[in-house]
Amino acid sequence: MTYEKDNRRDFEERIRIMVEAGYEIVVREAIACTRCPLHKSAIKRVIGKGSCNPKVFFIGEAPGKSENETGIPFYGRAGKELDKMIEYMGLSEKDWMVTNTVKCHPPENRKPRVNEIECCKPFLIAQIILLNPKIIVLLGNTAERSYCPERKLKWGVPVEHEGRTILKLYHPAALIYTASKIETQRAFIDKNRDLWA
Ligand code: URA
Repeated sequence: MTYEKDNRRDFEERIRIMVEAGYEIVVREAIACTRCPLHKSAIKRVIGKGSCNPKVFFIGEAPGKSENETGIPFYGRAGKELDKMIEYMGLSEKDWMVTNTVKCHPPENRKPRVNEIECCKPFLIAQIILLNPKIIVLLGNTAERSYCPERKLKWGVPVEHEGRTILKLYHPAALIYTASKIETQRAFIDKNRDLWA
């Protein structure tokens, strides 16, 4: 057994065990996880926010400072943008959930590293399997790198992937810094409304 295959087996086994055990165990395991160095900068683990029966599952990048303090994803400024986006999409509270590629805050707000994303991915995949959303919205390139690194998605163009529809949209933080992206994001949403209608 090569190191890589062994790792893969461990990866799949972790998902299988968590899916069998249920969502509460995914949360408990993520809270207790020390598999990557990010646990050292975590005050609170940031697991997810929203409905347990979502149509749309949003994946962001990583918890920021205020998310680290509260344990709530998209609690800070980017969260306000995400709220506006969700409102524009016409989703109600029962329709969506949001999480991140990693459940712990990276120091200095840096992007999560590939090994950190991989370590955390079984939690993400177990969440997706258990919550079973029809649509996954990848908020930015880090979410794409985590969830489907083998694909090169186009912004705003949906694809089928492992039985679900995946749509890559701009990360809400990008809309804060580049106002012109708000219009483009709205056009992506308008073009795809049928997906979650
Ligand atoms: N807050 C989050 O929870 N995730 C992000 O990607 C950005 C801000």
